[in-house]
Amino acid sequence: MNKYFVLYSCCIPVKGAARSTICDLQRSSFIFIPNEFYNLLKKNKLKIRYEEINKKEFKFKKLTEDIVAAEYGFYCDNPDEFPQIENSFEVPNIITNIVIDIGKSKTFDFGKLVLKLNDVTCFLAYIRLFDESDIINKMSFISEYFNNSTIRNIQFEIINNKKSNISQEGLLSINAKHPRVKKIIVRNNTINAINKFNNFECIFLKASIDSTSDCGCGLISPYNFSPNYSMFFESLKFNNCLNKKIAIDINGYIKNCPYHSKNYTHIDEIDSLKDFIANNTQFRSLWNITKDQIEVCKDCEFRYICQDCRVFTKESENLYSKPKHCKYNPYEAIWAK
Ligand code: SF4
Repeated sequence: MNKYFVLYSCCIPVKGAARSTICDLQRSSFIFIPNEFYNLLKKNKLKIRYEEINKKEFKFKKLTEDIVAAEYGFYCDNPDEFPQIENSFEVPNIITNIVIDIGKSKTFDFGKLVLKLNDVTCFLAYIRLFDESDIINKMSFISEYFNNSTIRNIQFEIINNKKSNISQEGLLSINAKHPRVKKIIVRNNTINAINKFNNFECIFLKASIDSTSDCGCGLISPYNFSPNYSMFFESLKFNNCLNKKIAIDINGYIKNCPYHSKNYTHIDEIDSLKDFIANNTQFRSLWNITKDQIEVCKDCEFRYICQDCRVFTKESENLYSKPKHCKYNPYEAIWAK
């Protein structure tokens, strides 16, 4: 006889102002539940006795069955044998990812930057190319620098395809030569297309951006939610956009994000990124702004699976203001058109 209903440990309920979610961090999905059911789960320490569920007055018998059918929960005799996942987020890397903007002229020493990134064990480099001349050779030349580095994932974004007319074959040749190049996004293209290959993605987008203006960065949509372990647990304790991130802007200055107006110093001016990070509390302070501290987001059922943005916010002077590009109202559970 199964005496309890419980959730799988990878399925975590999150309460919002108007409704709640259960986020399945293993299958990267979520379902909605009413807040009343969330409260009941919490009150009963995430286990509900089967005899309660079977009572005539129990309002959520059908919902409980649906949750079991959708494999977010199950019935069992010994719920204590299924402990909850520890809420921890720890990565050994001092920096995990860097955004590098590159324009027409050389503004910093790229080779020295790669050595500095090795020192902080950075593993992802997102490189935005603002000058499209000789682009295939340029990407190949840049990728060469990362051989024997800690960078395991290189992604390029080509800002303007109008003049260079880049073909998919050209992009595939980069991946063939440099398998660390995992993704290339081409903007200002004539068509939209996403083409996935084994270990490589080519994305062609009609939309264009520039290096400084509001570009749709931080666009919030259910299509962009990431219900996975690292996003969820990082969001509980850190800012899920800026934590362990660094950016080098088009002039070679260190920023938290290329769109931030605040820069710290020129990358060539520092000998060690490790020392820069350790000694610069202002740079690190943005890493600690969690979704639970952000206005409106703190009441949203999507807050631990939704990428934050601290540059484009509703109130530009308010560090804790909601992301500007979000059209969701968690108090009414409505997406504005
Ligand atoms: S309110 Fe905040 S957490 Fe919710 S969808 Fe919008 S940006 Fe994401």
